[in-house]
Amino acid sequence: MPLPKRKYAKARQGERRSHLGVKAPALVECPQCHNPKPPHRVCPTCGTYDGRQVIEIKSPKKKE
Ligand SMILES: [Zn+2]
Repeated sequence: MPLPKRKYAKARQGERRSHLGVKAPALVECPQCHNPKPPHRVCPTCGTYDGRQVIEIKSPKKKE
């Protein structure tokens, strides 16, 4: 089985994995309550999507 001749330094390992970092989650402003929410998701604060009520919010956050 072919094997690498030398050990890869940890710095070079990081070069290879440069695009594997954790990114901040994408957030857009809700058109109803103007709180940040993930795009293409029901708003977790007011429970609306596309201008209509979709889910009931059981524990309302005091941010409105
Ligand atoms: Zn909302």
